[in-house]
Amino acid sequence: MTEPLAPGATIGILGGGQLGRMLSMAAARLGYRCHIYEPGAAPAADVAHGLTTAPYEDLDALRRFAQACDLITYEFENIPAAALDVLSETTPLFPDRRALEVSQDRLVEKSFLAGLGLATAPFAAIDGPGDLAAALAVTGTPAILKTRRFGYDGKGQARVMAPEAAEAALDSLAGAPAIAEGFVRFSKEISVIAARGRDGSVAAYDPGENVHVDGILSTTTVPSALPLKLRTDAVLIASRILNALDYVGVMGVELFVTPEGLVVNEIAPRVHNSGHWTQAGCAVDQFEQHIRAIAGWPLGNGARHADVVMENLIGADVARVGQLAADPGVQVHLYGKDEARPGRKMGHINRVIGAA
Ligand code: AMP
Repeated sequence: MTEPLAPGATIGILGGGQLGRMLSMAAARLGYRCHIYEPGAAPAADVAHGLTTAPYEDLDALRRFAQACDLITYEFENIPAAALDVLSETTPLFPDRRALEVSQDRLVEKSFLAGLGLATAPFAAIDGPGDLAAALAVTGTPAILKTRRFGYDGKGQARVMAPEAAEAALDSLAGAPAIAEGFVRFSKEISVIAARGRDGSVAAYDPGENVHVDGILSTTTVPSALPLKLRTDAVLIASRILNALDYVGVMGVELFVTPEGLVVNEIAPRVHNSGHWTQAGCAVDQFEQHIRAIAGWPLGNGARHADVVMENLIGADVARVGQLAADPGVQVHLYGKDEARPGRKMGHINRVIGAA
């Protein structure tokens, strides 16, 4: 076992959004400093020790950032390969490059998951209109076309209800390399937030049940209304993925519940919106767990002491915060963003609904 990162050391975080902000606060509680790297506005910088404002293409800025950090992590996965090359010259990155490469590209990700023997939606690559017919022969219709890279919150996706509509759907993705996925008829969406430490230990949180509105996560509820066997299956699936990647850090694994069992939708190599409930439900929340994992600390055990509903405050929802805060069982988190644009995640609340 390696020595834990020394107190006072600096953790670099690529990405300065709300996830970076909450990671930075957790790191501070454990005695570390954080340095944020973010090309745009950085709500994380309000609670961090340092900030670099520069694009991911600025290799000199990346080099200086890496030299100022004892280790580097990230809160979003679309980091260019050239940036990773520069960072890794001087400073360790957790989770490592392989985790990023697998999760940055939906085709690589689905192939990796299928290679582990896990159930996924049927899928096929689409590099141009000439691939559509063969791809839909694999997936059937309805299908969903998704860009291979840079998709989030349902962006970069188009549904294909019938084969004759496929070309128009592909056009809407503006020529980006894509995959087709068969439509999964799920009864619920759940996610497992799990962590793997530098010593290979794994700790998973109870799977949460997720409700999306317009492609954006709206609520996560724990416990989910799922039989214990399925909850265990979900945790086993997440653990398989972590081990296969020799992963270090927290990961979010999104799953569909179907009559045939669990189908993996996607993995996120970072703390995840559907894990925010852990702030009110667990002794060690997902943010502290991630910092513990990458800094070489023992992991929290993931046990849940409360039943919780997490609700995102999206766009104008944030105006309700005064009223929500009047409920003494509600924990409020605001991200310090100034403009409440539609679809923008402004904050969340955790409502404790009882003891576990
Ligand atoms: P994603 O960006 O892949 O997480 O997709 C966003 C949302 O679209 C998911 O949370 C699901 O609600 C829905 N979705 C994505 N892929 C599929 C699929 N293959 N079948 C059915 N629904 C899907």
